[in-house]
Amino acid sequence: MRKIIIAIDGYSSCGKSTIAKELAKALNYHYVDSGAMYRAVTLFLIQNHIDIYHPELVQKALKDIQINFGVNEETQTQITLLNGEDVENEIRVNSRVASAVSEVSSISEVRKFLVNQQQMLGAQKGIVMDGRDIGTVVFPTAELKLFITAEPKIRAQRRLDELKSLGQNTTFEEVLANLTKRDEMDSNRLDSPLLKAKDAIEIDNSNLSQDEQFALIIDLVRKTKGQEQRN
Ligand code: C5P
Repeated sequence: MRKIIIAIDGYSSCGKSTIAKELAKALNYHYVDSGAMYRAVTLFLIQNHIDIYHPELVQKALKDIQINFGVNEETQTQITLLNGEDVENEIRVNSRVASAVSEVSSISEVRKFLVNQQQMLGAQKGIVMDGRDIGTVVFPTAELKLFITAEPKIRAQRRLDELKSLGQNTTFEEVLANLTKRDEMDSNRLDSPLLKAKDAIEIDNSNLSQDEQFALIIDLVRKTKGQEQRN
């Protein structure tokens, strides 16, 4: 059966990566967390004391950044590698990364650098990628585009639970403030703002369980693949 590209976009912490991982597993597709790539670039810039308000310095630094994905042997989960080093935990729990990532991802040079790599990762199809501009910029011809939303308070609670499970001590208010700010910056930046592609299917998962959401989306995948087969 022909493989397709599944593009999943939406606001911060609305469960995009959870559903993307589930789909990739069920379909035996590759999963790419594009947000992890922006987070890894941000971590590199912080570690190397590069002033993110000077795009020319950021652009110069990009040639020293290599991002790959690997597998944690112990947990068998996907990890992000920055220049060969496992930074999976660091990019999620480091609050400086969370605070700076939307600023860094508004820099056109950074976007060009990562979009190019993302498009190469999807060249063979059979991929589920989540992010903010996947259906609009990275894969505008993706066979299935989803736009996931959920109420901000529900998203903040989910993110808080995730951070706590990673051993991070933070508050609901801090998490809500960070995701509200990121949503605003991501939606209003000039280059590739967070937008629902006109052919994307919107899913509000505020009141859906993980299983209900999976059932709904896998049905959309089946229909899309069936349609592709007939074309
Ligand atoms: O998905 P996640 O919340 O980890 O993404 C972190 C940040 O990376 C987002 O808030 C956004 O600023 C940026 N991002 C982006 N484009 C993408 C994915 C993430 O600008 N495709």
